[in-house]
Amino acid sequence: MSRRGVAILGATGSIGASALAVLQQHPERFQAVALTAHRSADALAGLVARHRPRLAVLADAPPPAGASAGTRWASGRAALLAAATHPDAEIVLNALVGAAGLELTLAALRAGKRVALANKESLVCGGELVLRAAREGGGELLPVDSEHSAIFQCLQGEVPRAVRRLVLTASGGPFRRHTPEQLGTVRPREALRHPTWAMGAKITIDSATLANKALEVIEAHYLFGTPYEAIEAVVHPQSIIHSMVEFVDGSVLAQLGFPSMELPVLYALAYPERLPYEARRFDPVAAGTLSFEPVRAAQFPAFALGVEAGRAGGAAPVIFNAANEVAVAAFLAERLSFPGIASAIRDTLERWAGDAPASLEEVLAVDGWARRTTETFTRRVVQC
Ligand code: NAD
Ligand code: MG
Repeated sequence: MSRRGVAILGATGSIGASALAVLQQHPERFQAVALTAHRSADALAGLVARHRPRLAVLADAPPPAGASAGTRWASGRAALLAAATHPDAEIVLNALVGAAGLELTLAALRAGKRVALANKESLVCGGELVLRAAREGGGELLPVDSEHSAIFQCLQGEVPRAVRRLVLTASGGPFRRHTPEQLGTVRPREALRHPTWAMGAKITIDSATLANKALEVIEAHYLFGTPYEAIEAVVHPQSIIHSMVEFVDGSVLAQLGFPSMELPVLYALAYPERLPYEARRFDPVAAGTLSFEPVRAAQFPAFALGVEAGRAGGAAPVIFNAANEVAVAAFLAERLSFPGIASAIRDTLERWAGDAPASLEEVLAVDGWARRTTETFTRRVVQC
């Protein structure tokens, strides 16, 4: 059996590590052909030494000194695009963080690749463009986000008209029970302590504000073609049920397991097959009680802002995403309070008066405007 080539975009991140762990358990099936990172040359060089890809790319730093046998090093945007469309890569795992991932998703789909998509921001910023690129290029989009992988698994063998509702589960983050007063004073290091998942910094903060769940509602809308009215979120603190689908007959299917991103990555790479995998096995007794609570929308306004932006469509989800990225960075740098993240997003959304973007260039222009506007907001907040 020939090995399937995999390009891992964002290989030095948290999802990148999960993907490389999956590849290591199945060297007979998968081979890393391209690995990319933002600036961390040393970290990428370590991965290159172990996985020996044909291409290694740093998005925004020069290649390290010294050669790596069999690997070509390159830098910059064109090199990232070359990784996303590498002729030996049958599968492209997009594990970048942020809107920077959109262009690569589009390029890979246009080149007819299977895109295993962790970068939900691609669908939030360019949902229609992504679906069109897949149609036109013959590419295939498979979810890596655990909730969407769960839904995708529950939908196997079902037709769209059989579905009544998608229910996304949310851990609720570290501040699930915080009062508004407590939320006003939380620091980055507390927000970075996620109760059930170990992830990159940006998505960890998004989980604490519930902006992540709003991004996931939009992601589900595009991935499954489900109207917003039929997508709900529920807090499930144990993160055992990864999401559920309710069918028109009232039957509900759920996918569950101990939280690990290796399993959704494996499913997206191997689909429609299931491959054996050595990991912590699910034990219902050890999992214990599974509980559910409503999303506390008043305490976590970023959730409703994001879902409303998704429903509004056009530029709104692009603005929501960009404003959130800038606000999260400001919070992490201790330039913005935790509630300030939602305020910054709301302020930026309210200032927009332009048209809906219809191309990648127009999406990037809206994204740039939103970033500048949110930066200005965070500076105003600091001054007063
Ligand atoms: P991370 O911060 O750990 O890693 C991000 C990777 O992208 C790194 O390799 C980094 O070098 C690279 N990168 C960052 N900015 C870049 C840029 N501008 N240009 C090129 N490369 C860049 O992030 P993560 O937690 O692995 O998340 C990656 C994506 O997966 C995000 O969209 C996130 O929402 C999604 N996701 C993550 C998890 C998780 O468990 N970590 C779960 C579900 C979905
Ligand atoms: Mg998720």
